[in-house]
Amino acid sequence: MCTKTYSFKNLNKTNTIFLLLTPIVAIAGTIAWLKVDGFDWRIMALSLAFYIATGLGITAGYHRLFAHRSYQASWPVRLLLLIFGAAAVQNSALKWCNDHRVHHGKVDTDHDPYNINEGFFYAHMGWILLLEDADEYKFSKDLLKDPMVMFQHKFYLAFVIIFSFLLPAFLGHLIAGSWLGGLFVAGVARIVFVHHCTFFINSLCHVVGTRPYDKKQTARDSWIMALFTYGEGYHNFHHTFQADYRNGIKWYHFDPTKWLIRGLNFLGLTWNLKRTKAELIKSRLQAQ
Ligand SMILES: [Zn+2]
Ligand SMILES: [Zn+2]
Repeated sequence: MCTKTYSFKNLNKTNTIFLLLTPIVAIAGTIAWLKVDGFDWRIMALSLAFYIATGLGITAGYHRLFAHRSYQASWPVRLLLLIFGAAAVQNSALKWCNDHRVHHGKVDTDHDPYNINEGFFYAHMGWILLLEDADEYKFSKDLLKDPMVMFQHKFYLAFVIIFSFLLPAFLGHLIAGSWLGGLFVAGVARIVFVHHCTFFINSLCHVVGTRPYDKKQTARDSWIMALFTYGEGYHNFHHTFQADYRNGIKWYHFDPTKWLIRGLNFLGLTWNLKRTKAELIKSRLQAQ
């Protein structure tokens, strides 16, 4: 049953303005780019690169590395994941991971920060628009002791300005002579796309698909959703075996986040990749 209401008083003004304004600025800015500089495929390639890098910053970095500790990584990898995770503009790793750990621990209850039982809109983005109680990061004691995570938390706004806006604008100018294209397409429009692709994990991934491993909670497996969520669409598996660095366990499952982690493992840059034992996965499948 939906219990949340949205009123001027209980809105988080910063989040609400940002989430509502970015799509408008993205459209207006893209039109300005097309009128002033004209279409250029190099801007589209830059935007795609930022779409992939910032999305993976969230899924490989914030989600599977920092929230779940499903593998370990060398400091340059951790730094890059914190930089591109911040550039996705979904809050600092500390805040994001704390919310996510509560989501796993209290899934589908009133304490779940993006409880799907409050409705699709709430789970997708409504929860971000509302004010919440002061954060104590009760579930993130380990992250509070991590100097890189805390540095990113302290300077989160600077990370966002530099890596999500200034860097694409500069690269747009460098590559295609168009800071407008860099800023509005690879910057703002890309933020909107990455936002909604990752928001889908909390909304559609709890609605669309099957529940092969655990029918008692709402998370679902769907290869179609995996296409939009950098491989996070195998969400029933993930909620059942959250320590696993994989979400799609078969080789043909579309899970680019897993491929990145494993690719870096071949280069010696990530290690201790946690995998659930095949017998355990099989026994869960049979138990359903
Ligand atoms: Zn998770
Ligand atoms: Zn979930």
